[in-house]
Amino acid sequence: MAPGLASPAPRSILLNPGPVTLSERVRTALTAGDWCHREPEFAALVREINSELAAVHPELSGDYDAVLLTGSGTAAVEAMLATFAPDRRRTLVLANGVYGERMARMLASHGKPHRVLAHDWTAPLDLPALERALSEDAAISHVAVVHHETTTGRLNDLEAVARICQAWGASLLVDAVSSFGAEAIAGRDWNLAAVAGTANKCLHGAPGLSFVLARRELWAGAAQPGSVYFDLRAYHRGQHGDGFSPFTQAVQIAFALREALAEHREHGGWLARRALFRARAEVINETLARCGVTTLLESSEYGSVLWSYRLPAGLGYARLHDGLKRRGFVIYAGQGQLAPEVFRIAHMGDIGADDLERLRAALPAIIGARR
Ligand SMILES: *Cc1c(COP(=O)(O)O)cnc(C)c1O
Repeated sequence: MAPGLASPAPRSILLNPGPVTLSERVRTALTAGDWCHREPEFAALVREINSELAAVHPELSGDYDAVLLTGSGTAAVEAMLATFAPDRRRTLVLANGVYGERMARMLASHGKPHRVLAHDWTAPLDLPALERALSEDAAISHVAVVHHETTTGRLNDLEAVARICQAWGASLLVDAVSSFGAEAIAGRDWNLAAVAGTANKCLHGAPGLSFVLARRELWAGAAQPGSVYFDLRAYHRGQHGDGFSPFTQAVQIAFALREALAEHREHGGWLARRALFRARAEVINETLARCGVTTLLESSEYGSVLWSYRLPAGLGYARLHDGLKRRGFVIYAGQGQLAPEVFRIAHMGDIGADDLERLRAALPAIIGARR
């Protein structure tokens, strides 16, 4: 590690795809007290958070029950698949990035029958191929898909996938970890069986808690063999019964999530958050374009949450990253095969107009203005 990197600048603006820069209100909530997770006050807090989570996307409210899980976003996705991907029928995984491929690995490690529709990481989902797969293989009852593929920043067309799945009677299991709270998520209209999300991305909570929302009627049914911690039905029975969870929850992270959800609501909900992230994306993209930096995808393919850019010739990722870190900003490298050519900038978190102004000055100072 280069000298100077050990001590980041005092106020660190996180432009990586979670965890995010916390607001003062959310950070303060972390120290609200020491509670036992098996006392009624914590049970009440979990119930409150679960009903707030279902209210983030109004189409889910009243129709979907949330359960809260201690673990990162990956835990929620794995628990969703462990609990709701069928053991006798097949799940079709649509993969155009790291996170789609990760879902296939989860199904494999839980011994669930599945097939993968593999795509290039820079490709949009192949809808005709999805339709073909569903028409050819009657055993497919579920389709697993990533909503916002953080590998590139592509917002997969969930609505188009949903229309096809609806026509063939397949239910959707959605990794919405980096879209929940900032992109459109319709419920029953899109044949969504379950949706996985996390506290520390678009919702602006602290890392450590994640959640799954599923259609109310799906929560009945037998426990999943082959999973103890990730059997979400046990969480549902507890949290929607006496309010307790089977295992210890991250109590302080729950305090922070309650505040983050209140802030999200007070600031105008998911539509306002999407508008905020889009505005940041525009400023950053415009600044980078002036430095001669181009986007990896077409700009219309991105969601609001994160955009990926091609590293300019002659500028290694380390120089860009370290230069920004010295100025108080943390960006993210490309993943896997994209690492040598790509960097990513996320737009989530408590970022002020003054922070954005400093970033607008920092980028050309490191990259050099080209035009
Ligand atoms: C961040 C993310 C995850 C989960 O990552 P964790 O490191 O476990 O929090 C899963 N899916 C997508 C699309 C993500 O962006």
